[in-house]
Amino acid sequence: MMNFLVRALIALWIVIYPGCDYFVRLWARGVVRRGPSGPEPRLCLTFDDGPNPEVTPRVLDTLKELRIRAVFFLVGAKARQHPELVRRMLAEGHEVGLHTLEHRHAYWMFRRQSRRAVEEGARWITAITGRPLRWFRPPWGACNLFQWLTVRRMGLRLVLWSANAQDWRAATGRAGILRRLRQRVKPGAVVVLHDGGGEAGAPLNTLQALPEFIRYYLEEGWRFVTLEELDGKRYQLQ
Ligand SMILES: [Zn+2]
Repeated sequence: MMNFLVRALIALWIVIYPGCDYFVRLWARGVVRRGPSGPEPRLCLTFDDGPNPEVTPRVLDTLKELRIRAVFFLVGAKARQHPELVRRMLAEGHEVGLHTLEHRHAYWMFRRQSRRAVEEGARWITAITGRPLRWFRPPWGACNLFQWLTVRRMGLRLVLWSANAQDWRAATGRAGILRRLRQRVKPGAVVVLHDGGGEAGAPLNTLQALPEFIRYYLEEGWRFVTLEELDGKRYQLQ
């Protein structure tokens, strides 16, 4: 009897957590992992875990100087603390998406917390932006069943990435970020960087690598686009 119960619980856990997670990562329709390549090489730059009062303004300065638009996946509780940074993102032509309310891992939340992470996070962000939210990216790219159902119900598109710089890890370093991105960026790439969180010293590496990364691709003739542009009339997201 006990044995059966333990097995049933394990099976349930697999359905709710890793089963759903791998389904979303690998097979679920409507999940953005990269954009279509199109006739001209394009990439979409995204930043997770902000807004952060030390890092985000410097990222925005770089993007402004190089005339690049990007997408910021915001932690709802941090956006609430720094609404002026969110307003600056919009004023400078960037897009924002949701990166949950408090950046907790999907495997550590049950039904109520999972729903709240999406619903309340979205509420805080839309209260600042005054526009409907379209994009959701789960922390570590991990989604559970409750979160997936909430995201679907709210009509949000789940966005993962195709090029991860691992810039939240201090050991990656400036050169490591650039090397990883050169290896992984292909036409239509969705690149993930961080403007908050991460290990001590990591944001400085990101800030140092960013202008060099952008200039390299601009000189190679690439266009930096937002998710809305990646999902435009000419090329629809798969
Ligand atoms: Zn994150």
